Amino acid sequence: MNSQQWIEKSDKYIMKTYGRYPIVPVRGAGCRLWDADGREYLDFLAGVAVNNLGHCHPKVVAALQQQATELIHCSNYYQIPQQIELAELLCRYSFADKAFFCNSGAEANEAAIKLARKYSRDKFGPERYEIITAAESFHGRTMATVSATGQEKVQRFFDPLLHGFTHVPFNDAAALAAAVTPNTCAVMLEPIQGEGGVNVPSADYFQEVRAICDQHGLLLIFDEVQVGMGRTGKLFAYEHFGVQPDIMTLAKALAGGAPIGTMLAKDQYAASFTPGTHGSTFGGNPLVCASAIATMRVLLEDGILNRTEEIGEYLLGELEALGKKYSFVKEVRGIGLMIGMGLTIPGADIVKQGHNRGLLLNVTHDTVLRFVPPLVVTKQEIDKMIVILDGIFAEVEA
Ligand SMILES: *Cc1c(COP(=O)(O)O)cnc(C)c1O
Repeated sequence: MNSQQWIEKSDKYIMKTYGRYPIVPVRGAGCRLWDADGREYLDFLAGVAVNNLGHCHPKVVAALQQQATELIHCSNYYQIPQQIELAELLCRYSFADKAFFCNSGAEANEAAIKLARKYSRDKFGPERYEIITAAESFHGRTMATVSATGQEKVQRFFDPLLHGFTHVPFNDAAALAAAVTPNTCAVMLEPIQGEGGVNVPSADYFQEVRAICDQHGLLLIFDEVQVGMGRTGKLFAYEHFGVQPDIMTLAKALAGGAPIGTMLAKDQYAASFTPGTHGSTFGGNPLVCASAIATMRVLLEDGILNRTEEIGEYLLGELEALGKKYSFVKEVRGIGLMIGMGLTIPGADIVKQGHNRGLLLNVTHDTVLRFVPPLVVTKQEIDKMIVILDGIFAEVEA
């Protein structure tokens, strides 16, 4: 079937929760995708920061193929070697002692919210359940994570929201300190806000946040669903800020494109999840964990993290140089390959123009072009992307 035929069938059978573009990718390799009509695209969205190793990395493909022949799924009533091995890897390379596995970012955050509440109830009693999160944050689409999210456009239509979330401006430690009450149990933040417009906090923000949490005995939860797994040039974004969380969530890039989520915690908090308090049928099954182990090994062994820092600086520099030529570009910001370009105009048309010219990119928060290519992106691919963008920008300016 060609793209048009797929789109007609989609209109008939798929719920319209997304404003989908008329592109039907059917094959990928590295930073490139091909659609059902054989058109090639340069992919600077990478499945929204999921395909960090590019599409169909051979080692991830091999791990999935091998595991599929041995055991695809097994209940969490039993011990799962691939899950155990992945947990060991995650704990060895992070602040954490224990892992819980689920299937998505929202579910990882649900687990974090539940653990924070359970721990605080165990330790302080039932009055401590409130979680402070940030305005413009994004934590997922389930009812609890929608309630945690600081964006009205995600929340509207779904009242009543879950009780117990307070929102404060991001990157404002004084506002956070002022929002703490005797009912507060935790603070949940993205180290760099993704959906909120690629917002990078000031260097000392998280140290102040950590101090506030320590002073009041609050758990600090980092949502690294988007920025974790090497995206910023470090395995985890918190490593840039000189602080450690008590709980951290990961998902998007963790298993190289297979659906997974995890919630990591220090032992003293993890101990509150006792048998029967939380669970997931698919969470951490052999297939996705084999994919995640392969993905993590490539990230750790192939020098990709250092390279991400370098190539990220190159992309940032090229985007800044491009931005200087055009009046509607306000600012370029980001760390590693998590980069946003703030515009004074909506970015939707630029994204569509990109599609027409074989470039996949994304706009978030209406006016921020988001660049989250695979970490294996080359300078040549960046140069090609800049030429395409320059052409589009020249038409927009004219
Ligand atoms: C994408 C995202 C989520 C939600 O992840 P899903 O897998 O879509 O549920 C949560 N938090 C952040 C920071 C995200 O970027």
